[in-house]
Amino acid sequence: MGTSLSYVHPTPESPWGTYLSQVDRVLPYLGELARWAETLKRPKRSLIVDVPIELDDGTVAHFEGFRVQHSLTRGPGKGGVRYHPDVTLEEVMALAAWMSIKNAAVNLPYGGAKGGIRVDPKTLSRRELEKLTRRYTSEIGIIIGPHQDIPAPDVNTNAQIMAWMMDTYSMNVGATATGVVTGKPVDLGGSLGRVKATGRGVFVTGREAARRIALQLDGARVAVQGFGNVGSSAAELFHQAGARIVAAQDHTGTIFNDHGLDLAELMPHVRATGGVAGFKGAEAMAGEEFWDVRCDILIPAALEGQITPERARRLHARLVLEGANGPTLSAADDILADRGVLVVPDVICNAGGVTVSYFEWVQDFSSFFWTEDEINLRLDKIMVGALKNIWDTADRHRISLRTATFAVACQRILGARAERGLYP
Ligand code: NAD
Repeated sequence: MGTSLSYVHPTPESPWGTYLSQVDRVLPYLGELARWAETLKRPKRSLIVDVPIELDDGTVAHFEGFRVQHSLTRGPGKGGVRYHPDVTLEEVMALAAWMSIKNAAVNLPYGGAKGGIRVDPKTLSRRELEKLTRRYTSEIGIIIGPHQDIPAPDVNTNAQIMAWMMDTYSMNVGATATGVVTGKPVDLGGSLGRVKATGRGVFVTGREAARRIALQLDGARVAVQGFGNVGSSAAELFHQAGARIVAAQDHTGTIFNDHGLDLAELMPHVRATGGVAGFKGAEAMAGEEFWDVRCDILIPAALEGQITPERARRLHARLVLEGANGPTLSAADDILADRGVLVVPDVICNAGGVTVSYFEWVQDFSSFFWTEDEINLRLDKIMVGALKNIWDTADRHRISLRTATFAVACQRILGARAERGLYP
């Protein structure tokens, strides 16, 4: 019998609460393995660390850092590190758990993990950001490593931060350990194709899903929330396939152009100003109006909990591609299903990033690097194969793609659990 955890208080709208309800939905499809299901409802290991740094003005600031290893049953932990002022242990737990599901759904030999620091990195200088990253890496150094747990970029972290993490870990162990993180710069053991891999995976799963519902990408209208790594890369590929990106929203504002945004101009604008606001080739709109934009495909690629029941009733898209982790509340999921909106869930839709991270890790171990074409081809093949398997499962049981992804993944995780047995 399971008991709830004393240290978190999930609600139906919170990330961990959303994850728990997703697990409950899959229980009827687990057969004998359901006896192990409680292991999915508690992280294996959660580390909370104090991250003190001396700021440029001489004062000392303390930040809360986390690294959660949800499951190590199928292999080392794997999952990104997020820098955001709203990071909490509960959020990191949910993100780590979704990594377990995602890694198993695409059959990568990993468990699931995630990390984060409760900080607004935009308020820090580059020097302060480096100190924060190095101290955090040292603090979580007791549980990460190329064979233990391999961090990667997530919201507000990037290749430079991965380089600092790799360097700090390497200094502490006395040897260059490129395999301790993925998403590194290419000349430090990073992989070609990694930066855009998550967006590419969103595109590949979107292309396959569109084909199944006879939605032509050429001329399709696309709205993207979050124009960072994932959102902008996905937008670019849809644009190349002939789609029109009619709306984009980020933390700076919301922009709209009925004829399609000119990405060749928008991308440099975002790089130069830090966001989409103020882009001359579009009209600005109020944030909430984003959810009313007439579009065929909606790509939430920002943060959790964005598609609420109220927004789910309003949105126009036929296809929702979850670039972000956990963007749809469970109650909203039901509304979208009732309305006939197809949702490609995060746990398969955004798995392209971790798949190329896996390629990076393998390349680091063998010190033999692949071409970008090879990487993109292998990524395409893995994503298409994984999605087909999930779709067959969904058709067989007449369940949503989300529940089918959880069914495929949980069977793999719990199957491995059953085979390993309980220690001691
Ligand atoms: P990023 O930091 O590059 O971009 C985040 C984007 O979200 C920015 O455009 C930011 O302005 C926007 N945003 C932040 N708050 C917002 C708000 N309140 N409203 C609207 N937009 C807001 O991060 P990313 O790596 O692109 O990650 C985006 C999402 O994709 C996250 O949910 C992340 O967990 C998920 N994800 C990322 C990867 C990866 O490889 N980077 C892999 C899988 C999933």
